Amino acid sequence: MAGYFDHNATTPLDERVLEAMLPYLKGSFANPSSIHRLGRLARTAIETAREQVAALVNAHPSQVIFTSGATEANNAAIMGVGLRQPLGQMLFSGVEHPSVQEPMFALNRHGWRNQRIPVDAAGRTSIEQLAALLNDQTHLVSVMWANNETGVLNDIAALAPAVRECGSLLHTDAVQAAGKVTVDFSASGAHLMSISAHKMYGPKGAGALIVERGLELEPLLHGGGQEKGRRGGTENVAGIVGFGKAAELAGQELATQQAHMLKMRVRFETGLRSALQESVIFAEQAERLANTVFMAVPGIDGETLIMALDRLGYAISAGAACGSDLHVPSTTLKAMGIDTELARCAVRVSLGVSTAEADVDGLIEAIKQQVKQLQGRAASSWA
Ligand code: PMP
Repeated sequence: MAGYFDHNATTPLDERVLEAMLPYLKGSFANPSSIHRLGRLARTAIETAREQVAALVNAHPSQVIFTSGATEANNAAIMGVGLRQPLGQMLFSGVEHPSVQEPMFALNRHGWRNQRIPVDAAGRTSIEQLAALLNDQTHLVSVMWANNETGVLNDIAALAPAVRECGSLLHTDAVQAAGKVTVDFSASGAHLMSISAHKMYGPKGAGALIVERGLELEPLLHGGGQEKGRRGGTENVAGIVGFGKAAELAGQELATQQAHMLKMRVRFETGLRSALQESVIFAEQAERLANTVFMAVPGIDGETLIMALDRLGYAISAGAACGSDLHVPSTTLKAMGIDTELARCAVRVSLGVSTAEADVDGLIEAIKQQVKQLQGRAASSWA
């Protein structure tokens, strides 16, 4: 997958993760709620995975609720508060993923109010901006750990005291951060945190909501009492086992992978600059994920460039995968105050653990070539 540069959309399954999952797709297929030996085997596998996932984010295993992914985890956090607490206000940062924003909008129909927290030019939520909106009606604040488009990191631990002081809960979407940077749930001060397996070389369809001990949420799924009644439905055993293995590997290999990806990112950014001096890297100076570059070549439409590179075997994206067929410029860039014309040119390059120097060099060359062609085409159409 030399040409794959879309790891923030999803990552390939690690071979070792697949190996860990296979037994639970074959012989050990039993329902973990069954009390016979095979059922107990599946139950034990889930509990091992719970420990592995908890260890990656420094949480207690009892704080992990397995879900079908982070969309469900985000919904479970927001709807779980919204359906349990007295009506009030929820705040979310202006660059949140749709799976945070949309459940908040859905709660409007039930009488909740919500408000966007403005962000700075790099898309971060500052304590001042947050504090200005907090009041005794605020019951939930959601600020992401790392942005999926720019990779920019928020300092959740710095925001938490003010949120707690006003009596509100704090949720963080740590999907893009977990496995790429150290994520310490206990030290962060957040009450709720969402993570997803398929962003860390695990399977799709497995994720978790991490919940502070003692915090009661209204479950999204009522049913057979699984996850201690917090999320009904027969568990996705193989998916959960894969998530556990992926989390274990991510924790063990984090430092090496982070260093590798940073080296590749620096190579890409330096190469891009010298190939196309006019190129822009969004939030370049901000602290951001080692694997993410959100960039634009002014005058070159992002989607046109993506399609041109696709024909050469390179997979990059326009930003959030979920919004990329909507033909609208990135909401993250809009919130950052980036001009719409430039935002239309944005493309995201997200590197992975197997991205090699030759892959990066190949991509730079392909971008340069395609940009020159597109510029040539535009110039001849004006002539
Ligand atoms: N939050 C963020 C920041 C994401 O990048 C994604 C995945 N695009 C999600 C939530 C949703 O995760 P999942 O695909 O597991 O539902």
